[in-house]
Parts: sequence; C-alpha cells; structure tokens
Amino acid sequence: AEEALINSEKLSVAGQMAAGIAHEIRNPLASLKGFSQLLKKKFDRHHDYLDIMLVELDRINEIVQEFMALAKPQANQLFGHYNLVRILNSVMTLLETQAILKNIELIIKQNEHHDTMIFCDENQIKQVFINLLKNAIEAMPDGGRIEIELKSVREGAISVTIKDEGIGIPMELIDKLGGPFYTTKSSGTGLGLMICNRIIQAHHGELSFASEKGAGSTVTIVLPLRTAGTPEIARAEQLQH
Ligand code: ADP
Ligand code: MG
Repeated sequence: AEEALINSEKLSVAGQMAAGIAHEIRNPLASLKGFSQLLKKKFDRHHDYLDIMLVELDRINEIVQEFMALAKPQANQLFGHYNLVRILNSVMTLLETQAILKNIELIIKQNEHHDTMIFCDENQIKQVFINLLKNAIEAMPDGGRIEIELKSVREGAISVTIKDEGIGIPMELIDKLGGPFYTTKSSGTGLGLMICNRIIQAHHGELSFASEKGAGSTVTIVLPLRTAGTPEIARAEQLQH
C-alpha cells in the first residue's frame, strides 16, 4: 500500500509538471496552426502537406489538453450543485455530430423519476463523460447504439451506465485500463481513463468496467447525490455558501 501511495504521489508531481509544460506549449502551437491555415489559403500547391500538418497539430493539441486536465482534479474550487441529466444532455449535444457521422445512435434512458442533483465540478464531470463516450464511439467502427442509463442504485447515490456495442475488452486487460499511457489505439494517448478515474475519485464516486471481447463494454459510474455528501464534501459546501 505504501508503494502505491509513493507511486501516486510521483504521478501527481509528474502530472503537475506535464500540465505546466503543456500550458507553455499551447500558445506557440496555436500560432503554428494559424500560420499553417494561412499558408493553405495563400498557396494552391502543397495542400496535402499542409493538411497533414494541420491534422498533426490538432493531435498535439489534443495531447496537450489531456495533460492539462491531469493537474485539474486537485484544484476543486469549482464545485456546485448540478443536475446530472443536464450535464449528460450537454455532453451528448457535443458529441452528436461525431456519432452521426459514424452511424452511431446515442440514447439516454432514465426510467424512474428520481433525484439527479449532484455536488460536483461541472466541467470535470463533463470531461469524464466526454472521455467515456469518445471511447465508446471509437470502439464501434461499424456503428451501432450507445445507451446511457441513469439509475438510483442505493440510498444517496446515482449510477450512470454507458453501454456500447463495440469491440469490447478482453477480461485479462480490464485491470490495465486507466494505467498511464495504456492504449490499444494507434493514435490513442492512453490518458483518458486515468483522468476519468482521478476525477471520479475526487468526487467520492466509483468507476467500473464490464466487458466481453466482441460483445461490447459497459462502464458504470456511481456518484453520491447532493443530499448524501461525505464529510469532506459537506465541508467544501460550507466553505462555498
Ligand atoms: P485512449 O482512448 O487514448 O486509448 P483511454 O484511457 O481512453 O485511452 O482508454 C484506454 C484503452 O482502454 C483504449 O485504448 C481501449 O483499448 C480501452 N477501452 C476504453 N474504453 C473502451 C470501450 N468502450 N470499448 C473497448 N475498449 C475500450
Ligand atoms: Mg480515450
């Protein structure tokens, strides 16, 4: 356990440093992208080269953003009361075009009429669902359906399951998910799930995976409801009001 603690401390120092560097890279990167776009407008030739440059710049940008998100879960000044359904709907709106282009149907199911208010950092929770839905979309190259379902699992907690019909994950690999840089994608960063885990931990929630190779995956997130704040959350709430 001690070793795990040391490792997680190392990780957080490394994460902070990476986020700092990422921050410094962002401006020159934006400038490179701007001038590449300008070159593309000015010249009729070499559009193919410039297109590749722009794609690669976007990729650097994505990695930089993921690194910056790594340092954020520590700073939790942005907590407030938010409706989980509204958060999910706004994330779905963000990803809808991407899904449609890939023949994927995104649906949200909320069976019972129950409390969906949580105490959270809205942007971080959005980040979690964006990462998870992106993974689901990326796991379904031939299209299909992604189901998001809200349930009250136990007193004072709400669960969100995201069920896809994608390629699935072999049992023996489930333990590796969320490890830094663990990816099976040629253009993946392997940081998405690590960020999700951190954010969910900071919200006193749980994140778990169930999958079968070839039969799709289900991610379940359980979050405490506003009314069931842990002592830490209660203290943070008091500080804010
Ligand atoms: P990345 O998406 O950049 O690869 P993540 O941390 O988001 O990094 O995911 C790590 C790995 O977990 C992925 O490369 C993939 O192998 C696996 N994975 C995550 N979500 C799913 C899913 N819904 N279906 C199948 N595999 C998944
Ligand atoms: Mg991912």
